[in-house]
Parts: sequence; structure tokens; C-alpha cells
Amino acid sequence: MSLLGSHVGLSSPLYYLGAVQEALSYKADTFMFYTGAPQNARRKPLDELRIPEGRALIRQACLDESKIVVHAPYIVNLANKDKEETFQGSIEFIQSELLRVSGFGLKLLVLHPGSHVGHGVEHGLDSLILGLSKVLENDSTDVTICLETMAGKGSEVGADFSFFHQFFARFPYPDRVAVCLDTCHVSDAGYDVSDADALLGEFDRLIGLEKLKVVHLNDSKNPRGSHKDRHENLGYGAIGFDALHRFASHPLLKDIPVILETPWVNEKAPYGAEISLLREGKFDPSWRQKL
Ligand code: FE
Ligand code: FE
Ligand code: ZN
Repeated sequence: MSLLGSHVGLSSPLYYLGAVQEALSYKADTFMFYTGAPQNARRKPLDELRIPEGRALIRQACLDESKIVVHAPYIVNLANKDKEETFQGSIEFIQSELLRVSGFGLKLLVLHPGSHVGHGVEHGLDSLILGLSKVLENDSTDVTICLETMAGKGSEVGADFSFFHQFFARFPYPDRVAVCLDTCHVSDAGYDVSDADALLGEFDRLIGLEKLKVVHLNDSKNPRGSHKDRHENLGYGAIGFDALHRFASHPLLKDIPVILETPWVNEKAPYGAEISLLREGKFDPSWRQKL
């Protein structure tokens, strides 16, 4: 089984200590968080976030810090260089985010490749290459940016593996970038998650499995190829529990963080239950009622 975890909060007053406690309450091996609100770029100074206490608890619980994931906010967009203000703002935000990730002692930053907003995929790819090059040209951290596979909603780029193939063929700092595969997104983009061998084989052929550093494990509310991006709890969506369990336990994913971003149920986090179902490998069709 891969390393299982989920999205956790980073909120007042416990901040990073609370994030680690939340992950441990789900019996997770790892976790993912945003360094502030996902929908804006306001960030608190690191020294207010109780990082030393969080890191002490990580060590005590024997979690592997190199597998803990930060997600960049979704307001950043590097795929349209024509909108000067957003593009420049996104570059500066990601530069400062890399320093924050490093300040947490972490190594993995997930980033959406962005939307071309009507200018076409080619423009999106050129913009992303330019923007990320500017981000990395003066960066001295050892953080890996993991570009996430997208559902292809609206004008999102990165909905097919060939986009990443082209990206890596041209990008000047390929060692600083990897890929995060989101099962809801790839299903919505048209891939068949139930055939893990074929999916990972296609990933390997076009991108290279060594580039797979993070998985987001979500069911989808919509059928394959729908380009919608609406996450569902495991076993309640179009992908189904067995396919998601097979994928998460694929031997090629053994040391990879697999992060749940499924919706809360009646104001309760589903993650402890979903992690335990994955470890057992057996679906309980009434698990949501029992939360
Ligand atoms: Fe994401
Ligand atoms: Fe995701
Ligand atoms: Zn999503």
C-alpha cells in the first residue's frame, strides 16, 4: 500500500501543530495542506504557524517529512502570460511559496498548470514554461513543483499526459518539476482509472514514472470524459471503490503519498473512515451513514 493521507486544515490557533494532529487522528501516513486560504494569496509569517511544534510531532509519530505535500492556492495562473498582472503576481507568489514550503522543512508543492483563457493550449504551454522558468531561475530551495493533471474544465491545460510530455521536452529545469496525478481529474479527462496498469503505462510512456511524486485519490461525481472536476467520496462516484483501491495499492505507487480530497459528509471529515477502508481493501456501502 502507498502512503495514505488527506487534505488537512491549517487554522488558528494551532496551525501546523493542529494540521499534524488532524492527520494523526485519521491514522494517516502523510497529509497535504494549504499555507493559507486556498482562494487568496494572503499568508501569515512562518513564525506564527507553530512549525517547530508540528515538526516535533511529525518526528515523534515517525512520519516521513519528504512525503508531506503543500498545495498552492488556485488563484495562481501561469498559463496565460497575456494577463500581465495575474501572471507576474503568480510568479512572485510561487517564488515566496517555495520559500515557505522549505521553511516547513518540506519538499513537495502541488501546482495547477493553469488556464489559457481562450488563447489555446499552445499559448498555455508557452506561458507555463516562461512563468515557471522565471520562478525557478533565482530559486535556491530544494522543493519540487508537482504539476497536477487536470479535468479539462473550461480552458484548463494539463488534462492529457501529452501536455506534460511536451512540457518536459522543452522546460529548462526539468529536475525541479514532477507530476501529481488526480484520479478524479484524469477520469473526467477521459482516462480509465479502473485499468491501473494501462493508466500507469501511458503515464510512463509519455511522462516517465519517475516523475510521479504525488497522487490525489478521489472518486468523481461525473462520468469518464465529462471535464467537470467534482470530487466524490470513495465508492460513491463513477470510478468506484475497487478501482480506487486497486490504484492506491498498485506496487508502482508503493512509496508515493496518496492524498484524499473527498468532500466532507454532514460537516464531518471522511478521511479516517476512507483511509481505513483503503487499508482493509473492502468496501462498506454504509460507511458514510456511520460517520
Ligand atoms: Fe489540486
Ligand atoms: Fe487534486
Ligand atoms: Zn479537483
